[in-house]
Amino acid sequence: MNILLNKPLKPELDKLTKYLEQVNNNEWYTNFGPLHEILTQKLESYLGVKNLLLVSNGTLALQVACKALDINSAITTPFSFVATTSSLLWQGIDIAFSDIDSESYNLCPEALGKALSIEPRYDGIVATHVYGNPCDVDAISQVALKYNKKVIYDAAHAFNVKVGSESVLNYGDASTLSFHATKLFHTVEGGAIVFKNKSDYEKAKQLINFGIDANGDLGEPGINAKLNEYQCAVGLTLLDEIDQVTKHRVELFELYRQELKDYVKMPDWHIKGSYNGAYMPIYIENKELLNKVIENLNLSGVQHRRYFTPSLDVAYKKQKTFSAIESRKISEGILCLPLHYYLKISDVLEVTNIIKLALKG
Ligand SMILES: *Cc1c(COP(=O)(O)O)cnc(C)c1O
Repeated sequence: MNILLNKPLKPELDKLTKYLEQVNNNEWYTNFGPLHEILTQKLESYLGVKNLLLVSNGTLALQVACKALDINSAITTPFSFVATTSSLLWQGIDIAFSDIDSESYNLCPEALGKALSIEPRYDGIVATHVYGNPCDVDAISQVALKYNKKVIYDAAHAFNVKVGSESVLNYGDASTLSFHATKLFHTVEGGAIVFKNKSDYEKAKQLINFGIDANGDLGEPGINAKLNEYQCAVGLTLLDEIDQVTKHRVELFELYRQELKDYVKMPDWHIKGSYNGAYMPIYIENKELLNKVIENLNLSGVQHRRYFTPSLDVAYKKQKTFSAIESRKISEGILCLPLHYYLKISDVLEVTNIIKLALKG
């Protein structure tokens, strides 16, 4: 048996070719072309958002969002993919870590409020909806309002996640998405930023094209972070089938949660948050048991990943940390299980049986 952790969505060649023919006929390959426009509109309507700017990846999405919102210092989560932190550090942003909530694994609003009460000098807050589980967006909004801070959500895991009937991307001043091949929806490499304010969107659109404005004049120095027409073609092809993809992934996710609920800890989901089936994390506190589970998965050829280990405050020791006790604890026992569109129900049952057997000893 060999069960893969992840398997990127494969675009249907017939459909993709039709879009590629359009690109060739248009003779327009990048710089906000016709397919770029269509993909932007389709994504805005599908996700229920406005002011969506496509960019070349999720890392630049974070950097451009910070630049557009004038964030030069930020309090952020230590429990996320490395890019949430490394992208900010690369940009010379002064960051400090504040701990996560022990049940949701997302940035803890109380700890954040405490950090800001001690040191209110930070410009912004950068939080991740880890595994697609929405942060406590209302509580974070309250803290942000109290201290007058901008909020960016790294929503790389949260494609099409809702809080109640509202897209999770509509919280905060900006939300960033990654359309990397390994993500739920992808354009091979790619991403997007959703801005609350049109003016921030306009500024960012200029920033991702070297800082050249609509009249061709030079403004603030920018960068090149545009998504090209060929990648938009992949996005358009995959977007057509994304409902069916998400449905299957959520079905597998729910089966995993049902099968494992009496055996392992799993993140507590936001009470109004929807599932997108992006990742399947479990937490096993006991090191011996965790190692046994890992060993048995390995023996059966089941891929898994210690995602996210280490806690980012450990990886970036020079940065200030207000608190990261929970993040360190969770990162020691976290394990992501196989979850992708091509995975079968029988695969999930195999994996959960291996885990149950390992834990029963
Ligand atoms: C994938 C990911 C990123 C980076 O996105 P890229 O498109 O690969 O640059 C950032 N943050 C999180 C949480 C991610 O999972």
